[in-house]
Amino acid sequence: MKQHLNSPVFRAISEIADNCDKEVYVIGGFVRDIVLNRPTTDIDVVVVGSGIELAQQVAKKLGGVKVSVFRNFGTAMFKYRGLDVEFVGARKESYQRNSRKPIVEDGTLKDDQNRRDFTINALALSLNKKTFGKLLDPFNGMKDLEEGIIRTPQDPMVTFSDDPLRMLRAVRFATQLRFRIEEKTFEGIIAQKERLKIVSMERVSEELNKILMADKPSIGFKLLEKTGLLPMILPELHDLKGVEKINGIGHKDNFYHTLEVLDQLVLHSDDLWLRWAALLHDIAKPRTKRFDPNQGWTFHAHNHVGMKMVPKIFKRLRLPQNDKMKFVQKMVELHMRPIVLSEDEVTDSAVRRLLFEAGDDIDSLMTLCEADITSRNEVKVRKFLRNFKIVRQKLKEIEEKDRIRNFQPPVSGEEIMKTFGLPPCRTVGEIKSAIKEAILEGEIHNDYEEARVFMLKKGKELGLESFEF
Ligand code: ATP
Repeated sequence: MKQHLNSPVFRAISEIADNCDKEVYVIGGFVRDIVLNRPTTDIDVVVVGSGIELAQQVAKKLGGVKVSVFRNFGTAMFKYRGLDVEFVGARKESYQRNSRKPIVEDGTLKDDQNRRDFTINALALSLNKKTFGKLLDPFNGMKDLEEGIIRTPQDPMVTFSDDPLRMLRAVRFATQLRFRIEEKTFEGIIAQKERLKIVSMERVSEELNKILMADKPSIGFKLLEKTGLLPMILPELHDLKGVEKINGIGHKDNFYHTLEVLDQLVLHSDDLWLRWAALLHDIAKPRTKRFDPNQGWTFHAHNHVGMKMVPKIFKRLRLPQNDKMKFVQKMVELHMRPIVLSEDEVTDSAVRRLLFEAGDDIDSLMTLCEADITSRNEVKVRKFLRNFKIVRQKLKEIEEKDRIRNFQPPVSGEEIMKTFGLPPCRTVGEIKSAIKEAILEGEIHNDYEEARVFMLKKGKELGLESFEF
């Protein structure tokens, strides 16, 4: 372990702690991650005594690094050579029923380890000179790390009831690290799931985002479903689960389909918001589901209804209400377009329309749509992927030719008004949209001269007199 403690930070901490006769340890995520060989820059230091004082002395020794002090929490931190180093006094915690915020008292290292969420997060390394690098592992966390197990150090019923956020952290670590949640811990989550109510939605979505950013997010969502946490967080996603059959005809289970799409998307994009779009792309399927004796199951306009559901879900989860949300909405709304396009003969005008609507998000849309192909029928999949290649090629060609992605009307409304001596009115809009349609249909190019000729022709059709200028 010692070789991981060669930063000057650790040497400085060690020296100062010894000088003032204090026990000091590096603890938690940092120790876990060095064992797992995961890159980490967050260092949590626990002192038996005042963390703030020690931080200030260490910072001074390191050449006057700036320390941020949070007296209310009894913590202090500084940044040093790319590391975030946080200091806290060892503490003992006790909880009240209606809050995640514990009552805190000074404690020993053991007290501090007792308050940690999982055995793998309770490992500590001594930084005092005599015992430098010695591992303190009271709950066999090292064994759990080796075996890939998430387990609470204390009775899970108490651990999860005290701070229910830990239930989501368990699922998140299981997803990020591909660990198994130990049986009793798992049962504890099931038993305490209702306690999630006291956790703020900001913290919930922070964990959801981390699950979404993992290499295989489906692990997390399946665990949320199995533990019963999902209906409390994203009931709309939970509602996708299940298969209904009428006259022996079933539809696919849209929960598992969604997770497959998400896992496939993750291989091609690390954009959090595109991952959210994958998670929500079929979210309106339960609401739009109908059985038609001739067609079988239909989910008419589920993209459109789904797009409308996004703001409510984002608001509830305290996710941004800005252009990120609009992007997710756009992806949900358009998610079927490229696939429909690739089913038919790929016409230029259909490609132009898709470019026009998706704009600069066309590449994200294509990535989502490709991930949406989860059929088990290999012939079908191959055909889709072949057609997708054609769509992509055509998108490229047409964009080079017609520059539709960031479409700006080649003739402005002002010029239309001037030409025909019109005030701002519906006719101006009509002419403008006729020009746009003509471009999208390929009647004219996206070009000022051609658009102007077209405008004059259209004006004439509408019986307008033109004033050349
Ligand atoms: P990540 O950096 O991926 O969020 P982490 O565990 O490394 O995970 P923090 O969330 O900052 O980082 O937590 C640091 C340590 O604090 C954890 O390793 C754990 O020991 C402890 N901890 C954090 N949150 C809780 C909690 N809710 N209950 C108990 N202990 C916690």
